[in-house]
Amino acid sequence: MADNKQALFCPDCGRFLRRFEIWPNVAFHLDRCSTCTGIWFDQNEWQTLQVQNLHYHLNLFFSPVWQAKLKDEEMRQRFVKMYLETFGEADYEKIKVLRAWLAEHPQGNRLMAYLTDRDPYKG
Ligand SMILES: [Zn+2]
Repeated sequence: MADNKQALFCPDCGRFLRRFEIWPNVAFHLDRCSTCTGIWFDQNEWQTLQVQNLHYHLNLFFSPVWQAKLKDEEMRQRFVKMYLETFGEADYEKIKVLRAWLAEHPQGNRLMAYLTDRDPYKG
């Protein structure tokens, strides 16, 4: 199939093709027919998958588990971007270290309460 954005219908059964993302925030999609599950490749897509030795695992990409992980990862990357923009790189690195330390510490919840209390010396 030529790389054509109008190719929205399955050449086999004529139904709509659904466009699937494969990796988070990567402009590479695969078109799959929801009716007959045929997968249709634009130019170079098959070669791209072969080069990365992924062409044997195509059905994995369309699984709800893979698609859910993809959405989770995209969400995570959006948060990372937002934190970087909000805190700046140096402070973001510091708060991540502190957060990891609190998560591992047996008194982590109490340390967190101390940290977030405006005046931890008031009753
Ligand atoms: Zn079809």
